[in-house]
Amino acid sequence: MILPRVARHAAGLPGGELPAYVYDLAALAGHAAEVRAALPPGTELYYAAKANPAPELLQALAPHVSGFEVASGGELAHVRKAVPGLPLAFGGPGKTEPELRLALDLGTERIHVESESELRLLAALAAERPGAAPVDVLLRVNLPVSEGEGDGESRAGHGELAGAALAMGGRPSPFGLDPRRAEACLPLLRGTRLRLRGIHAHLASGLPAPALLAVAARVTAWARELDTGHGLGLDEVNVGGGMAVDYARPHTRFDWAAYGAGLAELAAAHPGYTLRIEPGRALAAYCGWYVTEVLDVRHSHGEAFAVVRGGTHHMRTPAAKGHDHPFTVLSVDTWERPWPRPAALDEPVTLSGQLCTPKDVLARAVPVAELRAGDRIAFAMAGAYAWNISHHEFLMHPAPAFRFLS
Ligand SMILES: *Cc1c(COP(=O)(O)O)cnc(C)c1O
Repeated sequence: MILPRVARHAAGLPGGELPAYVYDLAALAGHAAEVRAALPPGTELYYAAKANPAPELLQALAPHVSGFEVASGGELAHVRKAVPGLPLAFGGPGKTEPELRLALDLGTERIHVESESELRLLAALAAERPGAAPVDVLLRVNLPVSEGEGDGESRAGHGELAGAALAMGGRPSPFGLDPRRAEACLPLLRGTRLRLRGIHAHLASGLPAPALLAVAARVTAWARELDTGHGLGLDEVNVGGGMAVDYARPHTRFDWAAYGAGLAELAAAHPGYTLRIEPGRALAAYCGWYVTEVLDVRHSHGEAFAVVRGGTHHMRTPAAKGHDHPFTVLSVDTWERPWPRPAALDEPVTLSGQLCTPKDVLARAVPVAELRAGDRIAFAMAGAYAWNISHHEFLMHPAPAFRFLS
């Protein structure tokens, strides 16, 4: 759960630098290279920057990805600057006019259009630039793929989202176009400077490989139907991210080999289409640790609590996902206070933070052999949706340190 060199680094950090995020960039690059190798050659791997947009991570990933998916004007400008020269796909449900102008200014390689209105706006902005190259767009569709959902158009893929941690496909959502609305966009494209390259869908998150493959097959089949039905000449299908990360079983990984094999079959069944995926969490989660120290251990009405420096204002992940965050105790043997060292022995302990709210819990009632004030804790799987989704300003505690091991 903790790489030896990360543990050494965490143990050696001066106390004044805790809490700290420690990222192992070599581990990240190695993992990305393995993912890349598991995918069929023609498939494109984009990294969804919203999982963790730290420039150091983007640069470590750059040699192993085909591009980056960004979801705001801020991410667009940031990622373009951090990793210039790599293609960007700009998605997101509420793109503003200035953001779309920025996307055109920066020559954004793909824009994922999420509504008819957005399509009209983008077409109008592109029309203001007659000399410029055509703007390559994908239509983001919200296909019915989940259990018991659907609009009756197709039962293919029925039930494949059973067990999805966060299924978004086929139910009312602010993301993307219903299939019929996507078709209604086609006439709007005529005579514009927009070039429809294909279909984009990101329909679920937290799926294992077989379920995610079924979604990919469904999306690709639907793209093919639309394409041949309207003679569009599409050449791309982006089947999204959402590869499962299991915080309860930190040693397991999404089955990239099975997923890659399935994508190879899918690609073979759909010659002429470039398949693209855009994972965030499953690429970045494993490369980061949130390292902190136990400030106090106390017993309250029969239960043990370890209060750590920091908390969910630094790492909101367990609160956002509703899980116990996996951790390793890094024992510190010195105790310099003249009074007895507060400790929990061989009992369940709740690890909470410094915020004055009962929601500031990082792991609840987890059995530990020994946990004492002054011990260090390394929370694993803190590389994605951790620091950057947290409410940093709440209670005005200092920010953590950031360490990048290359
Ligand atoms: C968030 C997001 C992703 C990445 O999702 P993960 O669960 O982190 O893999 C990919 N595509 C879109 C459109 C997203 O919104």
